Amino acid sequence: MTLTRRTFLGTTASATMAVCSRPHATDREPPDDDAARQTVTPTPHSTSANVADRFDPWIEVDTANLHFNVASLRALAGGRDNIIAVVKNNAYGLGLVETARRLEPLTSIVGFAVVKTDAAITLRDAGIRKPVLHMGICCLGDAQELIARNVALSLYTDDAPTIIRELATRVGRPIAAHAYLDTGLGRLGMPHHRALPWLQALAQTNAVEIQGTFMCFSEDLAFDQEQLRRLVAFADTARSQALPVGALHAASSTAMFHLPAATLDLVRPGMSLYGGYPHTPDVERQRAELRAALRFRCRVVRVEQILPNETVGYGRKYVATAPTWVATLPAGHVDGVSRKAVDGARVLIGDRTYPMIGAVSASHCIVEVGPDRTVNIGDTATLLGPDHPDIWPNSIERMCGASVYDLLMHINPALPRVYT
Ligand SMILES: *Cc1c(COP(=O)(O)O)cnc(C)c1O
Repeated sequence: MTLTRRTFLGTTASATMAVCSRPHATDREPPDDDAARQTVTPTPHSTSANVADRFDPWIEVDTANLHFNVASLRALAGGRDNIIAVVKNNAYGLGLVETARRLEPLTSIVGFAVVKTDAAITLRDAGIRKPVLHMGICCLGDAQELIARNVALSLYTDDAPTIIRELATRVGRPIAAHAYLDTGLGRLGMPHHRALPWLQALAQTNAVEIQGTFMCFSEDLAFDQEQLRRLVAFADTARSQALPVGALHAASSTAMFHLPAATLDLVRPGMSLYGGYPHTPDVERQRAELRAALRFRCRVVRVEQILPNETVGYGRKYVATAPTWVATLPAGHVDGVSRKAVDGARVLIGDRTYPMIGAVSASHCIVEVGPDRTVNIGDTATLLGPDHPDIWPNSIERMCGASVYDLLMHINPALPRVYT
């Protein structure tokens, strides 16, 4: 099919105007009550009225799918209300505050966990009331900010008894904290083999309220079992000496799927809440259904036909072997599109998916449309989402080798987000 000037103008007239309200006339408008329920985290120049009308990329968060995943994970973790939602790294791309707001009303969500100090402070200052656990270390000043906001600290350093005494003196009450054990990951935590005298010293300060004891698995499925044994052995010994351990927790998404005994008192999923299978998707899908809770979208900005031996993209890696249409999307690696996407990822435009080709540049990527011009300027392109199996996060991971963790967490936090 060749494109005449008339069909070009006919299909894309509004899209090519300098100012346009709706780039593509066939896109459905949300019903009014939907629009009213939406929340948009604005950028300096976006409003709820225009984010999804723009060509520039935006993120849509699907609250129904988020809640669906929570229900699936609750069932997986024994059907109890025992989920600490890990919302670190901007809630894996979904947006920290608005995602926490949508999780907080669920009774199965008993609290939140983050790694960075600012995230914990942001949650509280945005009005999140359920328990928040800071799973890192921070300076004394920040610790006071966290304590003032009723954020539980993680303790694991040798000087924790001294620090906790100092903090309790400053604020005039015992400090709520979780003991963080290293059972073999070798990243953070008090090494389990010397944690008992350390916990004794902590308890003797009378300056700490140990609300929990936790660890992080190495996600080597055989060694995870040994790590779990170490945690349970530590807790048994501590309890036998009347030392407080609080609620035991260890399981992130992978252990929830592969090591049921790791459910303990609480579970700490991140990725699976947002619809990504963490480790072995084909196995995990049999155990619990998850749905992508976000859509990464933008609108097509250019559609052109190229001839055999013509190329697209930096480095000229894609060479046409037959006449083909190619479409340019205004989303690149700065926005969070993986550079690996050109190794096999597909993009949903209309009801079909198309391969990413050439090279992902900072602000653009290119898709191969094929011999027919089935794509128009202004069409919505979905790079990640629940709407087609080819663009599920784990499908993109399988097709191009970019981890689901990178695909979600590397989405630029500055992109506007629409919450439905
Ligand atoms: C990130 C993280 C989690 C959640 O891991 P997922 O694999 O995303 O479920 C749990 N615990 C700790 C300590 C983490 O850093």
